[in-house]
Parts: sequence; C-alpha cells; structure tokens
Amino acid sequence: MTERILMSSPDVGELEEKALLEAFRSGWIAPLGPHVDAFEARVAERVGRDFAVALSSGTAALHLALLTNAIGVGDVVMCSTMTFAATANAIMYTGARPVFVDVDETGNMNPEILREAVTCELSRGSSVAAIVPVDLLGKIADYESIEAVAQEYEIPVIADAAESFGAWRCGRPAGSFGDHAIVSFNGNKIMTTSGGGMLLTDSEDVASRARYLATQARKPVVHYEHEDVGFNYRLSNLLAGLGLAQLDRLDEMIGRRVALRRRYREFFQGVEGVEVFGGDDGATPGPGAAAGTKDNCWLTSIYVEPTSAGWCARDLMNFLDSENVESRPLWKPMHMQPVYKDADSYLDGMSERLFENGLSLPSGSALAGPQIARVFASLERFLTNVRSR
Ligand SMILES: *Cc1c(COP(=O)(O)O)cnc(C)c1O
Repeated sequence: MTERILMSSPDVGELEEKALLEAFRSGWIAPLGPHVDAFEARVAERVGRDFAVALSSGTAALHLALLTNAIGVGDVVMCSTMTFAATANAIMYTGARPVFVDVDETGNMNPEILREAVTCELSRGSSVAAIVPVDLLGKIADYESIEAVAQEYEIPVIADAAESFGAWRCGRPAGSFGDHAIVSFNGNKIMTTSGGGMLLTDSEDVASRARYLATQARKPVVHYEHEDVGFNYRLSNLLAGLGLAQLDRLDEMIGRRVALRRRYREFFQGVEGVEVFGGDDGATPGPGAAAGTKDNCWLTSIYVEPTSAGWCARDLMNFLDSENVESRPLWKPMHMQPVYKDADSYLDGMSERLFENGLSLPSGSALAGPQIARVFASLERFLTNVRSR
C-alpha cells in the first residue's frame, strides 16, 4: 500500500527539534517563561499589534476575545457560516447566540448580507454584541466593507484569522484587522506549535484581562484569591520554543504553498468547469490582485461546476481517496450542522454551493517532490478517465 498523502501535515524538522530541546534545557518547563514572552513579542511585531497573548489554542483565543469584550448571555454574535465549528462553539461557550451570515464567492463573510442581518437583528431587538468574520483558507476577508457596517452600528469586530496568519490585504497583515484578532497554531495550520493560538489586540485592558482569565483568574497574592471563574488556557513555554522556530521558517513555508497553488492553477487552466479558489497569490496579476494583497495559500481548493465539467467535486474526492490522496470539501456551513440547526441565519445559497462543489487539495509545505508528483499524476489519471467515459 502506498503512503497516504495528507492535505496539510505539520512541517517540522531539525530546527524545531533543536528549539524544543533548547526550551526544555533552559529549565522553563512550568508553563510560562521567556520563550512565551519572546514568541508573543515577535508575533505582535509581525502583525503590528501592541499586544499578543499566547494561548493553548485558537479556540481558547476566540473564547477569551469574546469574554474580554463582555459578550455573554443575551447577546447575539454575527458569525460567518462557512467556518470550522470552533468559531461558533466559542460563541456558545460565552452563553451568547451565534447568528450565521452567508459568504461571497471567495468563501468569506458577505458584507451586504451582514448589513442586512445586523439591521434585521437590531430591529428585532437583539443585542448584537460582535461580528466575527473568518479568513477562509488563508484569504483575508473584506474588512473595509465589514468594518464600515461595524462602525455604523458601533459593534466590535473580532477577526478569526486562524487560517490566514502570514497573509496580506492592501498592505496590511492578517491579524491586524478588526478590533481584535485570533490566530491558531494547530498542527494542520500554516505554522504550528503542535497546539496553540494567540489573541492579538491593541487594547491593554483586553490583553491583561485575557492573561488573567487564562491563568485561572488568580489574583497576585500568595493564597490564590479568586473573584472570577478562570481558565487554564496559557501556552506552554516548551511549545512557544517550537513556535519561535516555526516563525523563522514561516515565509519559506508560505513560499512553498504559493508555489503549489501556482502549479494547481497551471494544471487546471485548460480544464473545463474548474476554477482554482482565491487568487492574489502573486501568480495572477490583473483585476483582483490588489497591491499588497497576498494569500498565504494555506489550502488550495477548486470549485467544480458539474454541468460544464461533466463530473463533480465528490467524484474527484473519491478517486483521489482510492489512490490514497487526501482531499476534502470546504467547511460544511454552520447553519447546515445538526448542532446549529435552530440558529438564525441570513443566507443566499452561496455557502451551500461552495460546500457542494468545492474541494481542498493537498497543500502542505512539508510535501516532498515525489509526493507532489503523485498528486498530479492522480489528477491526470482522473481527468483521462472522465474524458474517455
Ligand atoms: C483551526 C481553526 C480554529 C481553531 O483553532 P484551534 O487552534 O484548532 O483551536 C478556529 N477557527 C478557524 C476558522 C480554524 O480554521
């Protein structure tokens, strides 16, 4: 049996091993330490935020971003429907209610539907306490339009940049948009600390409150005084060491994902009914590729129009699976998930079409030449098969 090719496996090697050992040997095992401080400082500098709080996951970062903005029971949070469940779950943890907003053709929150949804919710008497856009697959959302709605109604924006760390939009880095943002360093993301995340903000109050809540809401007295229910959400110093090494390699890893995106784009160029998702990777100058806008190419996905292609995304997924190559539909929209079936949603059908016809392909920066060759050989065989049908 040939080895299975995964979509996005962790890209770690000697450098990361050395960094982890060095953090271990420094004696700072017990959770916080100088590597956490250094990791926070470097990420804050990279995204141009005043504060970064290293946490045990992106989900924890979302949870604390919401809590430190006093979001809770009785509130409504507008959330992109096309996302990983963690975004909606974090809203639920606070006792607030997620309201889902459909996406545009890029897969990111549709600002026009957002405006409609906010005005409608407000007219129904809802307390709309935050807007949570998601940067899908490494492409930064249209924050200019989203922030215009947010400012008009004075609603804070918490950007879920879990998938877009390292990407740019109009000269600004992912993580710098919104009032606050979060990133994830989970194993499958653009860079990893094995598990981890960060809350990024310019508010000293939010940062210090998040640090306090993340360390069991412990008042700085010897007997551990507690006035609040806290969490154990801080990132371990050992893992921050790993994060520092990954940061050194981030641009190189993004470069490899961008190169892979270009290869997919070339491959699918002449294929009827298939479009490669997202652009702005530098590969396709022209309309849409605004200056200073660059996808981090976390995942490369295609959109298959079944009537013109003569096949559908699921056919390709099943074929690749039979050749031991992993591919996956885009996130199943939250409003279609059984757990959120009763939530209110503002929809125009786009997310359902993207879910039906979209497919993410192996995109990891750790993919070696022979593995990439295998993926393209499989794609070639699939197309030969469907053409001879
Ligand atoms: C991965 C991801 C998260 C959660 O991050 P974890 O670090 O895995 O908790 C949240 N939102 C989106 C969009 C993600 O892709």
